[in-house]
Amino acid sequence: MPKISADYQEVSHLYHKRTNLSRAENNNRNFPRTYLTKPPAPPSYPISGTNPYFTNTKSDPYSATDTRVVARPLYKIRQASSQGNGLYSTQSIPKGKLILKESPFLVLPLYNNGENPPKELYHKAYHRLSPEYKTLFWSLYQRKDDDSEKSQSMNVINTNSIPFSRRHEYDEMEEKVNSLGLFRTLSRINHCCRPNAGWYWYQEDNQMRLYAYTDITPNEQITVSYLSHDDLLLPSIKRRKALLDGFGFECTCSACNLAWSAPLPQSEWNIRKYQFYRSKWTNQHILDYAANFSQSLAQLGTSLDILSSERLFDQMGEVYEKIYEVYAVHGIFHKAKAAARDLLQHYKVVMGFREANKTWVASQANDPTKYPLWAKLAKASSRQGRRKR
Ligand SMILES: [Zn+2]
Repeated sequence: MPKISADYQEVSHLYHKRTNLSRAENNNRNFPRTYLTKPPAPPSYPISGTNPYFTNTKSDPYSATDTRVVARPLYKIRQASSQGNGLYSTQSIPKGKLILKESPFLVLPLYNNGENPPKELYHKAYHRLSPEYKTLFWSLYQRKDDDSEKSQSMNVINTNSIPFSRRHEYDEMEEKVNSLGLFRTLSRINHCCRPNAGWYWYQEDNQMRLYAYTDITPNEQITVSYLSHDDLLLPSIKRRKALLDGFGFECTCSACNLAWSAPLPQSEWNIRKYQFYRSKWTNQHILDYAANFSQSLAQLGTSLDILSSERLFDQMGEVYEKIYEVYAVHGIFHKAKAAARDLLQHYKVVMGFREANKTWVASQANDPTKYPLWAKLAKASSRQGRRKR
């Protein structure tokens, strides 16, 4: 993996390596008929926004500081009409807004290759919980289909845990997902194939943060994707199977409902088109891909349009990055800079202001000539330009 995309890899795949984790990450929650206790109330502490760019358009997005405090929680947990319990907005939430941050109350290590730990560790982790947390533990949903764990405590953990990557001092660059966490509120968020939010692990704070990927209207359900980047692009029938096998529920999200109509809805054709374009840039070195300047930019532009209309926001980072690289290898300073800023803004939405500013793109957004292959094709493109004239 070239260094240039290391951070992007982290963003796009870190929390999407969930495909391999299958049941371990099943955190679908239907209505909790098995509540042993009253469900815990959502936390009432004020939430401080860390992503002021999208809440205060007047300020300079690149110098804004983390000061905004929201007086009441942006969400509440309530029963969803068909899907059972879910997280709902209590007010309008602008794209990029930090919805909540939360530390796990139970953490289990994952072994190499994302393997689940031995049974004893599950039981140990449970028995270490205080009575208050045990109550919370049993208020989480348990999977009830044939594939569910026989041990109730393992069922709760496998059904509700969220995989994340805890980085240690010695392997700071380690991207592998290596932990499973149970969270008071985050573990109750439902899946949608067109999610309006996503989470990002903040190692320094030991907290998972949930960011709005789109503008969210009051009383709208807040959803994330349980599927990987790639699996989210599968046709609905395959997505539904992956969700049923991995998480034990039928997806009834709008994208899946729509897909039942025949003939194949336009949206699935659009996604196929995007996947075709994507195969072009993923299977070629950037110097080869960008050699046909106008064609590559046309494909990338169409891809952005498709992802935007299909509400596949999380995938857009990869396209912004590619647009940046195409301009950068041609040495077109202002276009490259603008593209890098689009990418940086995307990162601010998916990981918040602070982490986004630590990525490689933060410095290249000011000076795209730092791109390792800067202007490598510049001569070729100016020759082409002359020929055209
Ligand atoms: Zn769906």
